Amino acid sequence: MRTKYIASIMSLPGLPEQEKQRLQRVVERFSFQASEHYLSLVDWNDPDDPIRRLIVPDAGELANWGSLDASREQDHTVIPGLQHKYNSTALLLASSSCGGICRYCFRKRIFLDNRNDHLKDLTGAADYLRRHREISNVLLTGGDPLTLSPSRLEAIIARLMDIDHIRMIRIGTKMLAFDPFRVLNDPSLPELVGQVINQGKQIYIMNHFDHPREISEPSKEAIHRLNRAGAVLLNQTPMIRGINDTPRTMASLFRELAAAGVSPYYVFQCRPALGNKPYSVPVEEGYRVFESAKTMVSGLAKQARFVMSHALGKIEVVGVTDRHTFFKFHRAADDRNSGKFLVRRSNPHAHWFDDYDRTAMPNAPLGRVVGHGKPHPQANLA
Ligand code: SF4
Repeated sequence: MRTKYIASIMSLPGLPEQEKQRLQRVVERFSFQASEHYLSLVDWNDPDDPIRRLIVPDAGELANWGSLDASREQDHTVIPGLQHKYNSTALLLASSSCGGICRYCFRKRIFLDNRNDHLKDLTGAADYLRRHREISNVLLTGGDPLTLSPSRLEAIIARLMDIDHIRMIRIGTKMLAFDPFRVLNDPSLPELVGQVINQGKQIYIMNHFDHPREISEPSKEAIHRLNRAGAVLLNQTPMIRGINDTPRTMASLFRELAAAGVSPYYVFQCRPALGNKPYSVPVEEGYRVFESAKTMVSGLAKQARFVMSHALGKIEVVGVTDRHTFFKFHRAADDRNSGKFLVRRSNPHAHWFDDYDRTAMPNAPLGRVVGHGKPHPQANLA
């Protein structure tokens, strides 16, 4: 079966006419797109259905909240479409399209007109990667690299295979949720995975399942084929209001992923990207949901970390008390901040690290960096 894509909310039979009219202003600003497969998972009788919420626009997206590049990816863009933020990892924004458009997308800028953020010059990118011997792994992202034609994907991977110091290739994709038939109809993809592994490198498929109902039977079959080909499958999901912001749903997602053969890897704080106000859960509430979910699942299902992809690095939320919130750099853009531990006075309304007041605790040892070494001056962490 080949999946059809729908790019107009006017073509959604399950959406009442009045709501289509009401949401027209939203889609004029932030595009809509969904696969028929994904729409078949929606319960149209439930206005709060989480699958519907993930793909159907919400009038609250028009609120003046957030920024186009919430993690300041532009600061680490070395050539258009190639980011180098962490020393051993590079990101190739290989595609500017996806199998659907998540309403909470953190890279909405790639869908806006006249943006030039994705990769155009593969030769230039390969030259950069070859010169930077510290890069051991490359994440293909976008957009979604599995929206590329098999031949384009192969061409990109072939370039990476030629570079000895690149040992791991990651493919960030939501296609196994949006359109698992992309995998099921393409025998060349498991073959490509096998070729990479036979040449002594590894492929990681970084999936993006947000809700257990997205793991449909075709999704399970696609997971199985990629697992059998030798890829390592992980999952990363943001915590999203109305989709997976309860311990029960998050635990169920962890459990279903682990049972299908996908390890939960990251739960992200929703980035404060433009249009994301209706979807963001405050940091401390999110941490409590995450921890509570972990109490309900086995060790295999609770390997994820709860992190913010901040401009300074991946900041893990490691503890919350009535008075304080505790963070640790899981990865730092500046190596001097790696592993550092941070304490902030509690702020139940904080949606991002920047919402914590860094001057609120001038006399207390808490509130200062207590990890190793000195903080990087630009990090302004104390
Ligand atoms: S799959 Fe990723 S890039 Fe594509 S719409 Fe969803 S969040 Fe955005």
